[in-house]
Amino acid sequence: MRPDTKILSFFKAFGATGVELPAIGQGTWNMPESGPHLKEARRAIRRGIELGMTHLDAAEMYGAGRVETLLGEAIRGIPRDRLFITTKVLPTNASFHGTLAAAERSIARLRCEYLDLYLLHWPGSQPLSETMRALETLVEQGKSRFVGVSNFEASEMIEAASFLRKTPLACNQVLYHLDERGIEHYVLPAARERGIAVVAYTPFGRGSFLRSSARREVLEAVARKHAATPRQVALAFLIRDASVFAIPKAAQVAHVEENAAAGALTLDVDDVAAIDAAFPRGSAGPLATL
Ligand code: NAP
Repeated sequence: MRPDTKILSFFKAFGATGVELPAIGQGTWNMPESGPHLKEARRAIRRGIELGMTHLDAAEMYGAGRVETLLGEAIRGIPRDRLFITTKVLPTNASFHGTLAAAERSIARLRCEYLDLYLLHWPGSQPLSETMRALETLVEQGKSRFVGVSNFEASEMIEAASFLRKTPLACNQVLYHLDERGIEHYVLPAARERGIAVVAYTPFGRGSFLRSSARREVLEAVARKHAATPRQVALAFLIRDASVFAIPKAAQVAHVEENAAAGALTLDVDDVAAIDAAFPRGSAGPLATL
């Protein structure tokens, strides 16, 4: 699958928000914030957007705000309504007033006027009801179109949703890759049932799925069949459920192009069965996080 000939076309409903998003977006954690690789990182983000990967994921935590600044620079000049910008509040800042203030700081760094999606990064010690009230206030103020959570167990996700009165809980962003399929037990079914999108972070799992040669061969065989690459097959497997979106991070143009093309790859039942056998789901346990 040549990256320049396959433009990402795989848009799907993002939970109950009423918007359609590309199944594959772009993460930004650990993007170079300075030095020789910065230019390539900016180019990679822009190339991803050109290819349809307009869902951009950041967090105030990344580089203590510097990644939001980098992203703001990378998207300068691109019409705002072409982009879907997500960022996250740190749990330590997630009191009612702290959340409102953190969102303002993120909007200023991103220079994006408003956020599309604002998430609580992980469950913390601030009262969840207050954080959710602040997130809903941001929607009322036009500062964020949608709100969600990250690293929430199914029960915590349901509790978070119960505090929202006027806006749906758009998503739960969680760890999901071939070697970590725990969310398939509870989080994914609970989200699916309630119209909450699941956003898969670290979809390449730090490359662990490519290290065992026997398991890599399974991916390679599927990849050969579709004229694709093993990473494209891995991404296609994760987004096979209508509720799941993936946000691989790539600071190199070639990587972004490879990832974008995965959006046009559809696996058949034999492919899914082969991958399922090589990378079993495992037993249910507490939600895995990074
Ligand atoms: P990842 O996307 O699974 O992997 C990123 C690594 O894979 C980078 O080293 C990247 O290299 C490499 N890569 C990407 N595409 C490639 C390709 N086609 N071929 C070869 N290598 C490739 O890991 P992640 O950054 O941890 O997760 C993705 C995003 O999820 C983050 O950036 C962040 O936005 C989000 N996230 C959220 C949470 C949370 O708690 N909510 C936690 C972790 C991550 P290059 O950069 O050199 O291209």
